[in-house]
Amino acid sequence: MAMTLASLDGRSQAEDPTISPLAVRGLTVSYGEKPAVFSVDMTLSKGRMTAIVGPNGAGKSTLLKAALGIISPLAGQALVHGKSLKSQRHRIAYVPQRASVDWDFPTRVIDVVLMGLQRELGLLGRVRAHHRERALACLDRVGMQDFADRQIGQLSGGQQQRVFLARALSQNADLYMLDEPFAGVDAATERAIIAVLKSLREEGKTVVAVHHDLATVTEYFDDIFLINTRKVAEGPVETTFTAENLNKTYGGRLAMAQIDQLELAAG
Ligand code: ADP
Ligand code: MG
Repeated sequence: MAMTLASLDGRSQAEDPTISPLAVRGLTVSYGEKPAVFSVDMTLSKGRMTAIVGPNGAGKSTLLKAALGIISPLAGQALVHGKSLKSQRHRIAYVPQRASVDWDFPTRVIDVVLMGLQRELGLLGRVRAHHRERALACLDRVGMQDFADRQIGQLSGGQQQRVFLARALSQNADLYMLDEPFAGVDAATERAIIAVLKSLREEGKTVVAVHHDLATVTEYFDDIFLINTRKVAEGPVETTFTAENLNKTYGGRLAMAQIDQLELAAG
């Protein structure tokens, strides 16, 4: 039987579309005595964009990191396309919270994007012309092709965020996980990023993003996952993004006046 590239890559040719690209089960994570994430189940739907929403310190970043295996949970697991995280980790691209990255590290933009090709390049692999071309094409997709040789630390916050998205694109993943991609970026960058994310969705890819701006949830996302250490609710924005669920998630921290201004689901 012919071994296809796809099967070598761990992707079965006709993958069951009903299997979740990421299913988190019973996830509990703790840095100290009190858990940061407690007994959380999350099931992403393939080809959709999901917003993870909750107050500061609710465990949003922790949930992503534990789902990716960057930090180890006390309990629970993440299944990627129904298989172990370890065997499928290469199918996930991650864009960390910008504030958590050391920007003084002297690296050119093109080298940041090439990091996304690490798996292909191998430990000692040489960067060839076609790798560089692919990296440049990813920079082009986020409007940063002219900055390839600049130092990453010299860029604006929005430009840095675009470069990190380009790195994620170069991985050619199936699932894109982003932690507050719009935090501290200019309006043009926000539009550029959302356009790229929507084009990924059109390609059938799955996107999940920690999102802090409640005013754009309805416009940007299909599904919402509300968390405050524990899961509060998850489902389509049309049915789940309700005043009741927001109150449960934020407690008294979100004024009714704010909620009144949102385009919420009825109920
Ligand atoms: P969010 O992303 O929703 O703002 P986090 O996942 O960053 O929340 O944090 C959840 C909780 O865990 C917070 O109380 C935070 O202070 C704590 N926390 C996060 N990272 C660490 C860490 N590296 N060490 C200790 N506590 C942490
Ligand atoms: Mg966070």
